[in-house]
Amino acid sequence: MIRVRFAPSPTGYLHVGGARTALFDWLFARKNGGKFVLRIEDTDTQRSTKESERSIIEDLKWCGLDWDEGPDVGGEFGPYRQSDRVKFEMYDEPLNELLKSKKAYHAIYEIDDPKKMIKKTYSGSEAKEYRKKGHSVTVNFKISKGKTVFEDIAKGKMEFDNSTFDDLVIVKSNGYPTYNFAVVVDDHLMQISHVVRGEDHLTNTPKQIMIYEALGWELPKFMHIPLILGPDGTPLSKRHGGTSVDHFRAHGIMSKAFVNYLALLGWGIEAEIFNPIKRINDFRLENISPKPVIFDYAKLEWMNGQHMRKMPIEILVKEFREWSQKYSLSSLKWFEEASYTENVFEICRQKVNDLMILRDFAEPFFDGELNFDEKAKNILDSSHSQLYLSSALTAIKDIHDWSVEKVEKAIRTVAEKEEISKKKFFQILRVAVLGKTVTPGLFESIYVLGRERTVLRIENVLNGKEI
Ligand code: GLU
Repeated sequence: MIRVRFAPSPTGYLHVGGARTALFDWLFARKNGGKFVLRIEDTDTQRSTKESERSIIEDLKWCGLDWDEGPDVGGEFGPYRQSDRVKFEMYDEPLNELLKSKKAYHAIYEIDDPKKMIKKTYSGSEAKEYRKKGHSVTVNFKISKGKTVFEDIAKGKMEFDNSTFDDLVIVKSNGYPTYNFAVVVDDHLMQISHVVRGEDHLTNTPKQIMIYEALGWELPKFMHIPLILGPDGTPLSKRHGGTSVDHFRAHGIMSKAFVNYLALLGWGIEAEIFNPIKRINDFRLENISPKPVIFDYAKLEWMNGQHMRKMPIEILVKEFREWSQKYSLSSLKWFEEASYTENVFEICRQKVNDLMILRDFAEPFFDGELNFDEKAKNILDSSHSQLYLSSALTAIKDIHDWSVEKVEKAIRTVAEKEEISKKKFFQILRVAVLGKTVTPGLFESIYVLGRERTVLRIENVLNGKEI
């Protein structure tokens, strides 16, 4: 049985590298009829927060990733949490075994200098005495001599000289297990068959293997997915732009595009715009590139635009609505007239690549008050603008059978009759009805606004009222 896990530490937002690891683990489980487990690694009590756990879970769900097991929370699977497992004393038995076999010891530290070890002991009661007297006490795992060798699915044979490692703290002085110990116990108890994780954990693996061996446990298979680099070839970091899933969500990247792009970061699939869920059968761990991949922000943005234009318009509106509510970015009035909203979004999405810019494009179609930007004001102040707008107004009022073609014809006829530069005329009209110089196509915009709104907006400009 294939069993994999995603094991984030809740110490910040979900990073794109983490999301990609989760996606590959999930695809691997789904492809093989296996199980995907979510385990929150929150034994670092100083740095773990509930807020981070909540946002990681929300981001995973947003990516469409679901997990197959966990405690029941309101009819859903919650994540496994290491802090709960500490309470259930799940780490005690293996710990005692390591102490009993003298593969781990209690390390006692100087009271005034908790970094300075003064004694090693295998006796639990002795350690307790020291603790009572105010000494810090950890449990440390003894690194054995020799080499640790394992076969990594991505990287092939890996060999580490154990002398490069110090003895490993496996239980901190506050009684909590450390990552390298808890991860081994949990992966073993959860019967994880494949540990597929980021390359940043590569040097932890030999330490973990030594613990498996000390406990006489069978090893899972290991795979370390290469790092994601920024365009300059250094590990992706805030310097390059955002790195968290939340950053991309907040900037209006949609989940379909995001997951599509993540999948391309190493999957090795011959495809570009696609739905990874529909290609599960083509997923093979062995095909994941062993080389680092470059994160291309512009490509993600482009891909997002492709998805935005391809998806059914009602889905775009629905996801925009959820997004704008999450980030408090638009008023609910926007969604009252569903067909109007869909028409607005239809013309706007032709020109934009993310929800943030979609919002900027859509805004003037909804708000009662137009915000004329500086450029727009200058254009409206130019000579003749009143005259041109009056002519346009008459022509628009006279259109029979409201359609994009009719709107276009009427406006072009005005331009020809008045012998004015089309470019100039269109720009004056554009800023009068939308308040901006960059908008969706002029004729489509007027068509979608409808005669009544268009007439009102032009009249307001003519009356010197900025709507
Ligand atoms: N909790 C670790 C982290 O967030 C991951 C552990 C693992 O996958 O083994 O980096």
